[in-house]
This record gives sequence, C-alpha cells and structure tokens, in this order.
Amino acid sequence: MRVLDPTYEGLESAAAVCHALLVETDAHGLVLVESGLGLDSVDRPAEVLDPEWVELVSPRLDRGETALSRVAELGYDPADVRHIVLTHLDVDHAGGLPDFPEARVHVMAAEYEAAMAEGPSRRYRPAHWAHGPRWETYGTGHGQEWYGFAGVQALRGLPEEFLLVPLGGHTAGHAAVAVRAGKEWLVHAGDAYFYHRELDTGSPESHPLLDIVQLDSQVDAELRIANQGRLRELASGHADEVSVFSAHDPWEFARFTQRS
Ligand SMILES: [Zn+2]
Repeated sequence: MRVLDPTYEGLESAAAVCHALLVETDAHGLVLVESGLGLDSVDRPAEVLDPEWVELVSPRLDRGETALSRVAELGYDPADVRHIVLTHLDVDHAGGLPDFPEARVHVMAAEYEAAMAEGPSRRYRPAHWAHGPRWETYGTGHGQEWYGFAGVQALRGLPEEFLLVPLGGHTAGHAAVAVRAGKEWLVHAGDAYFYHRELDTGSPESHPLLDIVQLDSQVDAELRIANQGRLRELASGHADEVSVFSAHDPWEFARFTQRS
C-alpha cells in the first residue's frame, strides 16, 4: 500500500505493508494472524472496496501479495488454515477471509458487533464475511491478566500459546494477538500504532503520513493513546521476552522477515 497525501510537501507517499503471521501448530493445523486483502479485492476492487479508501491508501492489487498466495508459496495447502485470528475487521485485515472459507475466525465481540452494525462503510466491507465464516467472538469482562494487560483471552480450540489482548481505540474492539514462540512472545499489535518510533521510550515520534491514517481512522483517541503507552512499556520493559510489531510499518516487516 502507499499512503498518499498531496498536502505534505517533500513526502509524496509512504510505503506500507500488511504484516501477517502464519503459525504451524502440532495439533491445530495452520493459524493465520491477520489476512490482509484477498483475491476479491484484487480482482474486483470497484465492487469490494470503498473508493475513498482506495484513493487514500492506493493498495497494491496483486494476487501474489495475498495471504492465499503467500501460504501456497511457503509450500502449504491453504485449506489447512483452520484458524484466523484478527486484530480487528478493517478491510485491510479481514479482506482475506473469503480465501479461507472453512477457517474459524477469532475476533473481539465488540469488533464483530461494530462491523455488523456499521458495514458497509469505508473500513468495514460486508463482502468479506458474505460467505458466513465460523466466528469465535470474545466478550469483555473475562480473561486473565498478562504483563499488566487486563481481560486477555485464550482462544477457543487453540492452545494457550495464542492470546487476544484487548487494545481499543483504533476501532471499537481492536486487540493485539500474542503468539508464544518458544521462550518469546510475538505480539502483533495490529493498528495500535503505525510506526516503530511511536514505541520509542525517549521521545516517541509518529510518522507524518502514516499518522494521517492513524488519526483519520481512530474511534477513541484517548484510549488509543493510552494503549499505545502501555504497549511502549511492554516493549521496553520486557524486551528480552516480548517482541512487539504493528501491521503496516515496512521497517518492522523487513526486520522480522530477515530474522525468520
Ligand atoms: Zn490497518
């Protein structure tokens, strides 16, 4: 994706990615964390996507960039993706759902309810759940404490290495997804922040262009900023056990893909 802003002189556009994780489990098949845009968005953008959103972010409409293609490229059968865990239901996170019609889809209940009530809107596109996914939703008021975060929930049908960490602000039911890999927790923070320097402890900075999208799309500024602060503390205070990354930052994406 490229975020465009003609009013910001000297910075015409910023590259952005849709960072997804594919997790191979012993007993539960493949688990996809985030699904990006799918084949329907690539093939029929005028029908599936909102034109204003397309203008704002200029998504790269390439079949090879979809999660479906990437899973196959890694040598796996996309039909083995049995679970999809989503940080939220924005188009660039839930767009790949129709490509994995048999997967159980895990998301916070507040997010599910907001999307069903609001869609079709710029962010929520009902085409992405028209196939009737097997939803697994998680209400608030349950769950455990995890590194100081409350209401953290284990996922139905998955081992305890997968957690949903409520982090509202960007959307009504936004959450981070934590996945334990050996001794480390990988924390996919979705759109809880947009640029790695926002997690700097000294003088955090947002990205001038990515911040336009961040501010434009938030539903609760105060909560978003508070949760970003908590993530900053998690990342800096537990750097030896926890690695935090976000959905759209291309620098983080490069760092993590090089690492693996
Ligand atoms: Zn996003």
